[in-house]
Amino acid sequence: MKIWMNGKLVDKEDAKVSVFDHGLLYGDGVFEGIRVYNGKIFQCNAHLDRLFESAAAINLELHYSRSELEKGMYEAMEANSITDGYIRLVVTRGIGTLGLNPYLCRQSATFAIVDQIAMYSEQMYREGIGVIVAKTRRVHESMMDPRVKSLNYLNNIKAKMEAVHAYVPEAIMLNADGYVCEATGDNVFIVRNAKLITPPSEAGILLGVTRNIVMHLARENDVPVLEDNFGVEDLYEADECFMTGTGAEVIAVTSVDGRRIGDGITGPVTRKLFDLFREFTTAGV
Ligand code: PMP
Repeated sequence: MKIWMNGKLVDKEDAKVSVFDHGLLYGDGVFEGIRVYNGKIFQCNAHLDRLFESAAAINLELHYSRSELEKGMYEAMEANSITDGYIRLVVTRGIGTLGLNPYLCRQSATFAIVDQIAMYSEQMYREGIGVIVAKTRRVHESMMDPRVKSLNYLNNIKAKMEAVHAYVPEAIMLNADGYVCEATGDNVFIVRNAKLITPPSEAGILLGVTRNIVMHLARENDVPVLEDNFGVEDLYEADECFMTGTGAEVIAVTSVDGRRIGDGITGPVTRKLFDLFREFTTAGV
């Protein structure tokens, strides 16, 4: 396997980051998870926009331009003969001292890993999954803006551990106000009276690229979409629930905390959006 690292393709064994890199010492850095469909980087501009916005939010200077990063990702795809897969594009703060000061790090380190991904089984995509509502709340934006896709995922990992301990694949996190926020690596939607509802940006979510596409596809196909806060009871009483993410794509949630959602099967609106999303990715936009 070849990794694109700081402008060059290197063997996996040689793709190394220093123990003095603040990405490792402090989780100081940003990243993107990106899909490749039919030999094309899916929503490349949206991902690069978010990467640059995340970097700007933490005053992290990128060493490569958008076109250099895009070229690097295509080089890595080609070197690994991947036409359908997943790219992890990472920018770390770089090598610094043992203190926190990021401005003492000379240059950010950048790499792109291209690999296969299968988050859930085909059966799970057909039948949906069970999730829990985590006790771990999502960090408030006054502490760390959740719109920044940073290398520090411990908040989400804490909630993910709760899911693992409860023998389910995902956990939904609430924000500090008790409203539904997002899952540990996915955005959340509910369906009520044939209308889609998803937490707004102000709920403290990562603005998912997949979320955006699904909202667009819904609107184009006469499914009304509302960005609004809702609570745990609304989640329990929803007609349908599903999650969206680059890795997960669109996956139905058929139970929350052991309570059946709707009829306990992938509902018609979720099924429709799942099919529309697959069609959209096949078109490779
Ligand atoms: N929320 C969080 C916390 C995430 O990490 C992700 C990405 N894995 C998402 C939502 C979904 O975003 P996207 O659709 O851009 O992958």
